[in-house]
Amino acid sequence: MTRNAKIVCTLGPSSDDQETIAGLADAGMSVARLNASHGTTEQRKELIQDVRAVDDRTDRPIATLLDLPGPEVRTATVESPLELADGASVEFVEGKEATSDRIGLSRSIDGAAVGDTVLLDDGHIEATVTGVDGGVVTARVDSGGELKSRAGVNVPGVDLDLPTITEADERELDLAAEADVDFVAASFVRSADDIYEISAELEARGAEIPLIAKIERADAVENVTGLIDAAYGVMVARGDLGVECPLEDVPIIQKRIVRECHRAGVPVITATEMLDSMIHSRRPTRAEASDVANAVLDGTDAVMLSGETAVGEHPVRVVETMCRIIADVEDSDEYDELLEQRVPPADETKTGALARSARFLSRDVGAEAIVAASESGYTARKAAKYRPNIPIVAATPRDGVRRQLALSWGIIPKRAVHTGESADAVIQDAVQAAIETGAAESGDTVAVLSGMMTELEGLDTANMLKVHVASETLASGRGVVAGYAAGPLYRVRDGSFDEIPAGAILAVPASFDGKFSGDTSKLSGIVDEHDGVTSYAAIIARELGISMVGSVALPDVADGTEVTIDGERGVVYAGPVEDADRR
Ligand code: PEP
Repeated sequence: MTRNAKIVCTLGPSSDDQETIAGLADAGMSVARLNASHGTTEQRKELIQDVRAVDDRTDRPIATLLDLPGPEVRTATVESPLELADGASVEFVEGKEATSDRIGLSRSIDGAAVGDTVLLDDGHIEATVTGVDGGVVTARVDSGGELKSRAGVNVPGVDLDLPTITEADERELDLAAEADVDFVAASFVRSADDIYEISAELEARGAEIPLIAKIERADAVENVTGLIDAAYGVMVARGDLGVECPLEDVPIIQKRIVRECHRAGVPVITATEMLDSMIHSRRPTRAEASDVANAVLDGTDAVMLSGETAVGEHPVRVVETMCRIIADVEDSDEYDELLEQRVPPADETKTGALARSARFLSRDVGAEAIVAASESGYTARKAAKYRPNIPIVAATPRDGVRRQLALSWGIIPKRAVHTGESADAVIQDAVQAAIETGAAESGDTVAVLSGMMTELEGLDTANMLKVHVASETLASGRGVVAGYAAGPLYRVRDGSFDEIPAGAILAVPASFDGKFSGDTSKLSGIVDEHDGVTSYAAIIARELGISMVGSVALPDVADGTEVTIDGERGVVYAGPVEDADRR
């Protein structure tokens, strides 16, 4: 099933084996998220290998996203939950132990002042600071509850003077670079400078990994334009956002960020508590189903599952459920209307202008797919920016790019050879990739965008948009005599051309060892199973000046089937290829 909105799944104890990861992938996961706030770096290293093994086995790509802990504050580990009573007084100190009177934290919060709010466990427990003495912050519990191990601590609106990159982050950055993960998510970033600082750390490790900026602080919301500009992608991290900002602000912040990312052509993930009740329950609530649907209607690139797949009881079922909600929305007339209404204006790039044209052109010519031949993924992401209502097949020779594009709206990434010999070769390879994904069939009209030919001109690479009729590669061998020829394929049997119509492509099986007889002017090309450029058929083809493919297993098609041969590349295509008359 092809969906535009993608699914990011957080892996954890419920999903940390290859079988479950494969189950999540089959159910619709496109990106596997490893949350470095939990578990060990060693466990993540193994998990990354497991995800790669599943990616190697499955047709659709699965990307890995390593989510850094960032400058977070967490409570100490406790054997069993602590009861914090309403009205009780508690002390917060930096430390590894916790009782209900004195709670150890991973970092001091002594930057807080009397009157500030301290929120524990996503705001489930609320306290007000009553005193700060050295490293000890005393607070009154306003709204108590059970405090679990390693609960998140937020002090909204207060600069706790934490470093952008912590020691734990350093270890995770080492792993990210070593394992060459597809994305790194940067937690608690404040502005573009934080993104540049983390990028520099990755570069110092010899890695160029795209960063996803998590918007989960009030200052990040203020600086979101700069963050969208600096990062590869953005995550609306509603968990911490709903604690750091007033909860009622989150829905509009989400919509604004999704819209701004869409306009900028930057992938955006909507995250946290999307189907939260399914951690235990087999069905989501109506409100959760609506939440997923609304994010899809907003135009998010991806929706994310956290606890649902990491620690939930039904990890695969929850992905199936999410997939069904997405599919239903994307099949609706309301969705189609929104896609038409929300096409961003052309940006200042040539690639953007071509990609925007591709969107309207493909609609006007009734194309089945947009095929983007994309080296870096840039051209394909530009195509996605304009949200066409047909699939975008991104054919790329780079494996990392293939996985990264799994996050982007509407893109079906596919590995392609891209011989780079000529524009026609690049187009044919990309279209063949599209046929292999099932997004287009031989004979379908597709719009091809190519960013492959002007690599040296810098990033703005798309220099071609073409309406093209897809032709499937039936066989490939060796080019013997250059040139295109199109016509019905006929096998030679006893050497005579009597039964062969004019304009035929002659197919010579390896078993044929006779001589041709009859009117050779009937032939427009030859396909030969024999090896070498000096076979009998090759000598005839050269004499006649007709194109020929040799050393090729004859395609399994009936006599009379229309084919096109490319004697330069040694390829036999199904049906007439548009440029067949170009010789
Ligand atoms: C969030 O806060 O919504 C989020 C995705 O971050 P984390 O799961 O790391 O808290």
